[in-house]
Amino acid sequence: MPSVSNPNLPLSIIRFSTISAYRAWRHEALLDGKTVGFVPTMGALHEGHISLVKRSLVANDLTVVSIFVNPAQFAPHEDLATYPRTLPRDMELLKDLKVDVADQTSGDRVKRRVAAVFAPTVVEMYPSGIVQNIAEQKGAFVEVKGFGHQMEGKSRPTFFRGVTTVVTKLFNVVQPTHAYFGQKDIQQALILKRLCRDLLFGYPEHQNVHIIPTERDSTDELALSSRNQYLTVDGRKVASILIEALKAAAKAWTESRSKAECIEEAYRTVERKEAKAKSDGLQVVIKLDYIEMNDAESFDVLEGEVQRDEEESRVVILSGALYIDKTRLIDNILLGNASHIIG
Ligand code: AMP
Repeated sequence: MPSVSNPNLPLSIIRFSTISAYRAWRHEALLDGKTVGFVPTMGALHEGHISLVKRSLVANDLTVVSIFVNPAQFAPHEDLATYPRTLPRDMELLKDLKVDVADQTSGDRVKRRVAAVFAPTVVEMYPSGIVQNIAEQKGAFVEVKGFGHQMEGKSRPTFFRGVTTVVTKLFNVVQPTHAYFGQKDIQQALILKRLCRDLLFGYPEHQNVHIIPTERDSTDELALSSRNQYLTVDGRKVASILIEALKAAAKAWTESRSKAECIEEAYRTVERKEAKAKSDGLQVVIKLDYIEMNDAESFDVLEGEVQRDEEESRVVILSGALYIDKTRLIDNILLGNASHIIG
């Protein structure tokens, strides 16, 4: 069992399924003055999740990963029942993970590993119960008003309320010093930062909510995602269409073309790739949900002729969602100088 006093070499990762057991461990860490880095996930871990965990390992004494498939963020017609649940494999993956860091007192290189996994039951996380239909829900929920109805929120109107609710609960339990989220879900990460700021969270403080770049497949740049497991062989062959479309729009943007032309480029790319897939005889249905450009601060859709300053200090989220058969993939590129948002 990893102890708080010797976090660098735990024999195995401790797995907590109850809040009370986790809290006793966290209390000890607090008394020892240890920092806690936190990576919330829904499991089915891949290299995208691992990149977040590594960031936490480097910067914190103790790293906690949560694995919880959150019912509140799935609409009734979505894939809650079939979402991949692979806890034993996830535990193995985390157990084998280590990073080399300099010991703060001796300066020696030491190996740091994940200290704990918090994998609660639905009952533990939703003591008042939870149903997916929000009209029938009872109990406490958390909402960041004005930021959850654009982009992803347009297609998934109840999604962000589910996310902010569960992450509030997880932060209340885990009490992290730092928390790590992926750029792949950029709207989610920015909303969670705002949640911590507006509700004056101390664990973590909003400036300690970090957004980490999207990890991609090295061959075709498909954003890694647990949902990629749903893709058929033919579906996987065309799954990079979305990032290719976003890249075409981003290129047009850097050539100072109008927003309408950028979006047009993206749509044309999808059409071209779709036609190619058909002529190659691939058995796959491709359907674009949206491609849009939104202001990273307000999430407002960019309208009309967009003024661009020399430094490109206004950050624009170029994002999209695409169905490959029944699998919904999302991705984004940040335009402008996003160094204050990412990293
Ligand atoms: P999920 O398990 O899908 O809820 O994701 C848990 C966390 O991992 C979220 O903060 C995601 O944004 C992040 N994440 C998912 N995919 C990637 C990726 N390809 N690269 C970086 N972070 C990711």
